[in-house]
Amino acid sequence: MHADVVVIGAGQAGLSAAYALRRAGADFVVLDGNAAPGGAWQHRWPSLRLDRAHRVHPLPGLPLPDADPTDPASEVVAGYFADYERRFDLPVRRPVAVRAVHATDDGFRLDTSEGEWTARGLLNATGTWTRPFWPAYPGRELFTGRQLHAADYRGAEEFRGRHVVVVGGGTSAVQQLIEISEVTTTTWVTRRPPLWRASGFGEDAGRAAVALVDQRVRAGLPPGSVVGVTGLVETDAVLAARARGVLARLPVFDRLTADGVAWDDGRSVRADVVLWATGFRAALDHLAPLHVRGPGGGIAMDGTRVVAEPRLHLVGYGPSASTIGANRAGPRAARELLRTLVGTDAAA
Ligand code: FAD
Repeated sequence: MHADVVVIGAGQAGLSAAYALRRAGADFVVLDGNAAPGGAWQHRWPSLRLDRAHRVHPLPGLPLPDADPTDPASEVVAGYFADYERRFDLPVRRPVAVRAVHATDDGFRLDTSEGEWTARGLLNATGTWTRPFWPAYPGRELFTGRQLHAADYRGAEEFRGRHVVVVGGGTSAVQQLIEISEVTTTTWVTRRPPLWRASGFGEDAGRAAVALVDQRVRAGLPPGSVVGVTGLVETDAVLAARARGVLARLPVFDRLTADGVAWDDGRSVRADVVLWATGFRAALDHLAPLHVRGPGGGIAMDGTRVVAEPRLHLVGYGPSASTIGANRAGPRAARELLRTLVGTDAAA
């Protein structure tokens, strides 16, 4: 099977790129590993309500539905994406997992769960959700309690009566910590003291944060954590949790033991559960055969274009890893890729 352009992934980034390809009359297909529409949003934990998400920006060309802000974001966004795919007649094939991408003389060969595809250009929009990051700490295999990643969290109720250690200093860690602390006892550990800010960051601060991540990926470095740059917002829920003493954080323990966690200075905490809210990495393993990762550990980028492979764009990666960033990057990448492919035709 062949398409001029293959988009990998049907989340915010892939759909915004597909919208622009449709408008440009391109020959394209979207291959998505999920069984249903909704990108990563369909898997977010049920207690992540729309009004507790940072902010979900609408995709180009269709407003978000008028939903109750207390509805689960997973349901609202998945329904909206399904509607979007229908409305603009986007050619999404699923479930199709792209396992490996190889360079060929005139483009790419994709090995997928449903056979082989070829393409002249690629827009990769695979997000991060399928690559939860578990840091290595000694003793992880000794701990006899339960360990889970924030991606597998479904709600606080199942932890009632158990002591939970939450690891991580990002938004997911704080939201899950607060919910769990309402039903049971918790300990919070983070690598660095969290950076709190009294309100959401304005447009200027947002732009500055994105520019910093952009600088990193231009230099071929891994994108890094956006919260590390923007800080955590002191919402009413945060202030209430702080008043209850829930946000008194400790540095991360040095090791896990059979029944808890321990620090080299002799302290220890008994725990039934360790919740690793330690973030995600870009889901790019299928691109490994292209050898685009540089010595800095990242992929050198110029905007969304991969410097070492101009027929490959990464959208929703680094500076465009937000709903608004993906909205802007998807159509821009689609237009730039189509121009590159026309240039390749002219040269042939
Ligand atoms: P995804 O939505 O992850 O879509 C990627 C798609 O690619 C998926 O459907 C996946 O199945 C598919 N895929 C992956 N690998 C393959 C493969 N090899 N082959 C085929 N298909 C593949 N951002 C905001 O702007 N506002 C928020 O409120 C917000 N809240 C967030 C809450 C959480 C808990 C997390 C983790 C992130 C949040 N973000 C938020 C960031 C968010 O991830 C992005 O904004 C955006 O939704 C990601 O879109 P995406 O299209 O890049 O990726």
